[in-house]
Amino acid sequence: MTEAITPAALGDLVQIENGVYVFSQPDWGWGLNNSGVIVSGDTALLVDTCFTERRTNRLREEIRRVSTSPVKYVVNTHHHGDHTFGNYQFPEATIVGHPYCREKILSEGLDVVPYFGAVDFGDIRISPPTLCSDARSTILLGEVTVEVIPVAPAHTLGDVVVWLPQQRVLFAGDVALNGSTPVITDGSLAGSRLALGILRSLKPRLVVPGHGPTGGPEIFDAVAGYFDLVESAARRGYTRGLTPLEAARATTLGEYAEWSDSERLVANIARTYSELRGEPIGTPLARKEIAPMMTEFAGHPLRCLA
Ligand SMILES: [Zn+2]
Repeated sequence: MTEAITPAALGDLVQIENGVYVFSQPDWGWGLNNSGVIVSGDTALLVDTCFTERRTNRLREEIRRVSTSPVKYVVNTHHHGDHTFGNYQFPEATIVGHPYCREKILSEGLDVVPYFGAVDFGDIRISPPTLCSDARSTILLGEVTVEVIPVAPAHTLGDVVVWLPQQRVLFAGDVALNGSTPVITDGSLAGSRLALGILRSLKPRLVVPGHGPTGGPEIFDAVAGYFDLVESAARRGYTRGLTPLEAARATTLGEYAEWSDSERLVANIARTYSELRGEPIGTPLARKEIAPMMTEFAGHPLRCLA
């Protein structure tokens, strides 16, 4: 049975730098991401679309409010539906992403939809990246240089971040969240740490996380601190033979208890167990087992206000 929920308000586009905007969707929990919009000359580039048809329609309207330039590129930071389900609503754009992002969008399709039964997805259709690279690449958008930098494995095995070297603005995707619990079910703990190092080395002035308010590089420190907690929780639980749920329950979240969707700790411990067992990075976890454990830890169904 699915609980009746009131969806969060539709997102708003806010300018953070000349020609650089963030479409933000509080409360930034499950399914509520940030998108980025960069406008230069007579073209625009979008970083990620939204989870539902209605939300991406709003994003389109908000872009129209600030610019008449067509969206020429949509860069997907990774394959998850809250960043890609709206791709098809930009048929005029070339969708750019990591080859793994394309592969997962094609193989998973809409598999995640039943896990979020209360959400009105609308008429969602799959539209994967058609311009794919696992190398660093540059898009020259009018006067603005846009760098697409692969950092996988991290949140997934196909993450890229979008870096504006002139403005020193970084769109970090879900490699770095702010005030929202990171999740590495489909990624890697070790890889996430290396990725944070790459992001730090860029020395960004502004960091737009995949979920949560825009901030500065201090976001990386908070996320790294959380990963330390995940690792020590997982090592303790692994040695004692605990399930990920038991290990999560034996952990004091401390300052991270404030972050939304803290049940992700269960999935993060499960991923770390896989790495402690020496399994290859990216070994799939059983989503069918992990999702119920997260629900049990939270004490309620996953809270998705999309
Ligand atoms: Zn994600």
